[in-house]
Parts: sequence; structure tokens; C-alpha cells
Amino acid sequence: MKKLRKKIIAGNWKMNKSTAEAQALAQEIVKELAGCSEADVVLCPPFTALKVVGDVISQTSIKLGAQNMHWEGEGAFTGEISASMLRDLYCWYVILGHSERRTCFGETDDHVNRKVKAALAATLLPIVCVGETLKEREAGQTEAVVKRQLEGGLAGLGAGELAKVVVAYEPVWAIGTGRTATPEQAQEVHAFIRKVLAGLASEEAAQTVRIQYGGSMKPANARDLLTQPDIDGGLIGGASLDARLFVEIVRQAM
Ligand code: PEP
Repeated sequence: MKKLRKKIIAGNWKMNKSTAEAQALAQEIVKELAGCSEADVVLCPPFTALKVVGDVISQTSIKLGAQNMHWEGEGAFTGEISASMLRDLYCWYVILGHSERRTCFGETDDHVNRKVKAALAATLLPIVCVGETLKEREAGQTEAVVKRQLEGGLAGLGAGELAKVVVAYEPVWAIGTGRTATPEQAQEVHAFIRKVLAGLASEEAAQTVRIQYGGSMKPANARDLLTQPDIDGGLIGGASLDARLFVEIVRQAM
């Protein structure tokens, strides 16, 4: 019952780029990828550059994404941004539960779950990040960690809601380190993730969900990763800050 899943490549610009730099980067990417519709492409600049990047990509098939949001709709939450504010800026996607948010800002699976539900209620598509640390991998806990993060972060979603979620498998030891999971290591975890998703909802929903790999993906390793049967795209950090590298990875996904 394997479904054809369109590849999805997202660039996580993290806390980088002024508005002028973000505009220039988006313009370069648009120039190179004009008319590309074989893969979904998502740019996730910092909040401060959402408007300017949104304007650059508005007439293209490239979609805008944010890197985080709060689960409440509005109110006294200094420094936070709501799902409807992101929709107001024409965001389609939002990255949730990135390991940097979990590690640096104490995000828990329960926080991720609230955010996922708030995002879906606002018709934002969540990109939910999961992944083990090196210590957890070496202790043979990869599957247990990923299962706990999926069951916690996606708790209470119906099959229809789950099918809209993108999952990003990002082994923490591969993020920003230059150390990539081998295609076989990544495929093994991706297949496991799909099995967990089937248990959470249905086999059909699990076959619809796109599972990205993230962790030092670059042009040199992208094709081998992206041709694995359960790898449906990439979440790109460092290489997404360079238009040439990012575009090259998108081309490998076509
Ligand atoms: C990320 O932070 O989501 C990521 C995958 O980073 P990098 O590509 O730099 O490893």
C-alpha cells in the first residue's frame, strides 16, 4: 500500500540573516528554482525576515515556514508568536520540537504536542523534529527515544490530522557537526518511525506522512539519503544558508 510521497526540502535558517541578507538569499533561490514543482521547497527564516522572504516567494511555488510558535492563540506571553500570526504572514509550515529548542529552551514532548495541535487548528503544517543524542544511540536507545517523542508530540491526533504532519528525523549527533547518518542508518529509523505512526493512527495515514532526514545534509550526501524508500525529504540547516548548496540539494530530490 505504498503511496507516492512528494519530496519536501526545507531550509532552517535558524538565528541567521538580517532582513536584507534574507531577501538576497531568497531571491537567489527563487532565481534558480523558478518553475520547480517536482519537490516541495520551504524556507524557514527567522521571524524578523518572514515578511521580506514571503514577499520574494509570493509568486512562486516555494512556501514559507517558521521555526517555532507558541500554542496559545494570544495574550500575555512576552516574546512569543502565535499560529495565527504566522498564518497572517502567509506561513504554510512551522518547525516544532527542534532539538535546539528541546535542549536550549526546555521544550518537552507535551509542549510539542500543544504546539502541533494549535498549528493544525490554524491550518499550519507542522514539521515535527525527533531524534536521539549520541549517548542515547550508543546506549541502544534510538528507537525508544524516537517512539517516546512521536507518541508524546503527536498524542491525540486523528488519522486525518496526522497525515498532514511532516516528521523530521534529526539525529542530534548529526546536526551541525558534519557527521551524517549513513543512508542505511537513516532508512532504518525512518522505517521505524513509519511503523510507530501506523500504530498511532492507521497504515494509510503513516504511508502519507512525509519523513525528512536532517543532520549535515549537503549536495554530496543528499542523493544517497533521498533515494532511500522511507526518506521523503530533508530539513537543512547549515547548507540552507548558501543558495548554491541549498538549490543543489533540492535538485537531488527531483
Ligand atoms: C537542523 O538544524 O535542522 C539541521 C539539520 O542542521 P544541519 O543541516 O546544519 O546539520
